[in-house]
Amino acid sequence: MISMRPTITEIDLDSIGYNVRQFKGIISDAELMAVIKADGYGHGAIEVAWEAIKNGATWLGVATAKEGIQLREAGLKIPVLVLGGITPEEIIDCNYNDIDVAVYSNNFLKQLDRYSGIFRRPLNIHLKIDTGMHRIGIQPKDLRFFAKELKDRKHMNTRGIFTHFPNAAGDKEFSNQQIKEFMDCVNLAEEILGKVPYKHTANSAAAINLIESHFNLLRIGLGLYGYHDEVWLKEKLELRPALTWKTKITSIRKVKKGNRVGYGRTYMVDRDSKIATIPVGYADGYKRILSNNGFVLVKGRRVRIAGRVCMDQTMVNVTDVPGVCEGDEVILIGKQGNEEISMYEMCQWADTIPNDILVSIKDRVDRVYSNKTV
Ligand SMILES: *Cc1c(COP(=O)(O)O)cnc(C)c1O
Repeated sequence: MISMRPTITEIDLDSIGYNVRQFKGIISDAELMAVIKADGYGHGAIEVAWEAIKNGATWLGVATAKEGIQLREAGLKIPVLVLGGITPEEIIDCNYNDIDVAVYSNNFLKQLDRYSGIFRRPLNIHLKIDTGMHRIGIQPKDLRFFAKELKDRKHMNTRGIFTHFPNAAGDKEFSNQQIKEFMDCVNLAEEILGKVPYKHTANSAAAINLIESHFNLLRIGLGLYGYHDEVWLKEKLELRPALTWKTKITSIRKVKKGNRVGYGRTYMVDRDSKIATIPVGYADGYKRILSNNGFVLVKGRRVRIAGRVCMDQTMVNVTDVPGVCEGDEVILIGKQGNEEISMYEMCQWADTIPNDILVSIKDRVDRVYSNKTV
């Protein structure tokens, strides 16, 4: 086996287990769907899935058919729902692998009929209702017609009905309006189709901040990994970030006052300095916008990124770090000594959200698990 680069993420599965239990604690009898799309938000879908199940998750949520099939191939047997829009061809794969799909338009329903002859089992569907996100979903005004169409289709089993919030944390008034519209849709669907077993609307933020959204299943993504959509939600539910991103110094050089560092020569050293190079760059998902802007930790101290983040390497100014050596550990996100670079801080520097940082981390960055039991 090829040895690992020093640039790795460490994933603490115990923290993920803890976060699942935290959510279980606030959702009473409702079931929890662990949303593990995009390879578990960059934490590894399979590992996160096993850990979530061990701590009480009974559903898994993914974005694509392929992501769902990978879970089945890994031996995961619990219900899986593809949350996103997919093609009729992908639906065949889902049917063969006993994966539930979202149904969100009449046209789509018709297309599905063309393939129903080769289904291996009734297709489990969840009606996606568009109550205000305007991404995918049946318009409430079309639901009656839609449900009637569905009623006669024996090859489809309506197992769920759901909707999604565009701003669960920030706009309670709008979210509550969505819930009201959703409930009207549930009543109408059940009037025509009979009881629909699963009703779900909540993502992580809604789970924490909008009790009325819980119904009997919640779709928890970001929170599983220990982050909140808004930092103030921390006060309402404590979560533990599972990921640490680290590397090691590969080179240190002295650079005299007045010299400039890196591409474009954008960083000027204003005194005689020590510049360290670390083997991480934007090809690893370390955002280029962090150039001259972000910080890392070395020997428990914050040091500034010096110049532009390159594709594969980045320079940092370690002049004020006593005893700094090549090979020293560097924290990109996480704790070292008494210091921390938090995800939220990096998001400010990079003008983005935790989800984006997490899923940007490339496969080239090896993932190391701690507390792995399965
Ligand atoms: C990604 C996703 C979720 C999970 O949302 P978080 O905010 O990460 O908890 C829930 N529902 C749908 C439809 C999604 O696409």
